Amino acid sequence: MRQKGTIGWLKHDITHRGVTAWALSAALFAFYVILYWTDWLDPVAQALHLGSKWTLYGLLYTIAITAGGIYVMRKYRHNKYQIVRTTVIIFVQATLAFSVPLILKFFNQPEVYLSYLWPLKIEYFYPSTIASWPLPFIIWSIAGSLLMVPLLATFFGKRWYCSWVCGCGGLANTAGDPFRQLSNKSSAAWKFEQYSIHITMLLSFVVTAAVVASFFIGDSSPMLQSAAGEMQSAYGFVVVAILSGIVGVGVYPIGGTRVWCRYFCPMAAVLGLVQKKGKYRITVKDNMCISCGLCSKYCEMGIDVRAYAQRNEDFTRASCVGCGLCEEVCPRGVLHLENSDKPRSGPQPLTIDALVDESWKDRHVSPHAEEKQESVISVNWN
Ligand code: SF4
Ligand code: SF4
Ligand code: SF4
Repeated sequence: MRQKGTIGWLKHDITHRGVTAWALSAALFAFYVILYWTDWLDPVAQALHLGSKWTLYGLLYTIAITAGGIYVMRKYRHNKYQIVRTTVIIFVQATLAFSVPLILKFFNQPEVYLSYLWPLKIEYFYPSTIASWPLPFIIWSIAGSLLMVPLLATFFGKRWYCSWVCGCGGLANTAGDPFRQLSNKSSAAWKFEQYSIHITMLLSFVVTAAVVASFFIGDSSPMLQSAAGEMQSAYGFVVVAILSGIVGVGVYPIGGTRVWCRYFCPMAAVLGLVQKKGKYRITVKDNMCISCGLCSKYCEMGIDVRAYAQRNEDFTRASCVGCGLCEEVCPRGVLHLENSDKPRSGPQPLTIDALVDESWKDRHVSPHAEEKQESVISVNWN
């Protein structure tokens, strides 16, 4: 029910695409346009002794994740998974994504953000970028992207990166938490996602290959050099600046927190393909779902979790980032995030159990009557 009073109205308005939500979205869009294409923030950064606008941005990002993280830990204080996960998110952001690059810069070393890897950070495979790096960072970047990311995703799903390490997911799951229910649940959105995310992944591969080839053989092929330069700039402008920055964060208050992650992130596409073949899954307790829909509502990736629960079907969706919120909000403890070798249970008809409240059954249905009912009546939701 809608709360009364100014604070209650504001809270409702901002989390339900009201006027303040649109105003906040416009402000975020404006902030990113100023950040990417003007120098207006440089004086502010210098006044704070932060050097450049990018360090100022890193500081603001870290503050947002820390403040949002404290809010989330209080909100889900009874849930160990959420507490540990959020603590790790804040720690990774404060160290690998903020303090370590600052310290490197202080010692006149290249600023390397160790928590970001290719293809999310596409320039980390550009020879011109990594040529100045110390060898351990080059090894970290290449081995991390090609070996560590897929290997860990095989065992733990994409959640190890998307819900524990990556700053984009970190912001979504902390400061963005009040907006997570705004994700688009339509089948049109799901169809669009199938194309958009794989197209961006392929683009990131093609651009990287062109830039690498141009670095090594560009001198003998001016056409390749010019094409690679054009592709690099276009990718940087459209995918990095507009989609991941301006759209990715700008639409939080009106389109949910994972628009970039769900529709465009090339790393998400790679991890999703690995996740489908790996051990990660969400298991469903048979005949416990009461179809309340909370899991689907709060899934930031727009997955219809309820449909699987209604069919008693364990599932692994490529887009699932393993945030664990479907498990958290389920009032019946139906869902569980697991890494396992066991075969997933396929779809099965929901029996009468799911339609009768457990407490009511405890009071009114004898175990024998229940057995009889189950054998006679079943409801097929397919
Ligand atoms: S989907 Fe991409 S941007 Fe989002 S958390 Fe995962 S790697 Fe980061
Ligand atoms: S299915 Fe559950 S764990 Fe996966 S993204 Fe949705 S809410 Fe998070
Ligand atoms: S799985 Fe849980 S949260 Fe989802 S619809 Fe069923 S009872 Fe509700």
